Amino acid sequence: MIKEINIDGYEKVIHATEESTGLDCYIAIHSTELGPALGGARFWKYKKNHDAIEDVLRLAKGMTLKNSLAGLDLGGAKAVINLREVEKTPELIKEFGKVVDALEGQYITADDVGSHIEDMKIISGVTKHVVLKNSDPSPATSFGIIRGMQASLTFLKNDFAGNIQSLKDVHIAIQGLGHVGLNLAEMLHEKGAILTIADLDGDKCNKAAKMLDAHVVSPDKIFEVECDIFAPCALGAVINKETVEKLNCKILCGGANNQLSTSMIGYALKDKGIINAPDFIVNAGGVIYACKDFGSIPTNDFHIANILDRIYDRTMKCLLQAKETNMPTNLVAELMAAERFKSRNVEI
Ligand code: NAD
Repeated sequence: MIKEINIDGYEKVIHATEESTGLDCYIAIHSTELGPALGGARFWKYKKNHDAIEDVLRLAKGMTLKNSLAGLDLGGAKAVINLREVEKTPELIKEFGKVVDALEGQYITADDVGSHIEDMKIISGVTKHVVLKNSDPSPATSFGIIRGMQASLTFLKNDFAGNIQSLKDVHIAIQGLGHVGLNLAEMLHEKGAILTIADLDGDKCNKAAKMLDAHVVSPDKIFEVECDIFAPCALGAVINKETVEKLNCKILCGGANNQLSTSMIGYALKDKGIINAPDFIVNAGGVIYACKDFGSIPTNDFHIANILDRIYDRTMKCLLQAKETNMPTNLVAELMAAERFKSRNVEI
């Protein structure tokens, strides 16, 4: 059963349920102004329905900003599938795929927290509106985050001529060792960074700690680690009124979508002198990589890496503009994303 919900500022929001599998999902299409709306499908246990709705709305708008800033001809959307009372079975995934298909290409799905390539393969059996059924976007996302970190370090040291993008001996605290966090940790280790890590899954942490010579802290302690860069790579809204007070880093730069619980938290970060590399600039690697499935960007890995590299320039542009205008970086990034909509007389 598909029910449409009217929400101001969103083109379409639906609630879809299916009895035999227990599917309970929301899909929010924020904007198709720049093209079909692409955004991942998050499989998660939400305690309350309104938590799921809040998440899907925030994430969908974030995808509009991200896709616009990355220069992609794509709109923004997201899906969340609530696993509070059900198991994620192939049948449930298929039913979700049918809901995607019913949207006739307005929404294109992909993987996200709680979903991966195998799930996308199942979905591709019932709809063509799915990407990333053959490859994992996370390494591309992690590489983009590293470019964001390098831009932030250059900005922090205010030494544009020196060799200061090195990550050797830079202390980085990573929250979440899933697809993005672990790839990021591996790449940073290769570059000689010092790592502190945390995940809800203790086994993941211990394995990574051995492999990467990293220090493990409990999930509630990761915020207060004294470090150069804090990289949230788990869920959204982790930087809120409470946690912002605990932060002991110089730079915030990670993969999680919608890290700030509200835009206003950007002011708190600015007041603390923390450089915030906005998530929807630095974590665009995955969606850029996903575009190779459309043939809208070159499919050669080196050409894709060349496009990913521009995350450095966009991060730097945002940080410099924020300094010039004395604004929080997240708000500057939103204005940068809105540029492409201005000429179309559309507000986002
Ligand atoms: P994932 O499901 O593979 O990993 C998430 C990890 O975070 C899991 O290991 C989980 O145990 C851990 N975690 C959850 N809550 C935690 C907490 N409170 N403290 C510590 N660890 C916690 O997801 P992923 O694909 O790595 O994505 C991570 C984030 O990056 C998400 O916000 C996602 O939307 C965003 N993102 C992912 C991609 C991508 O390419 N996969 C691209 C852009 C953005």
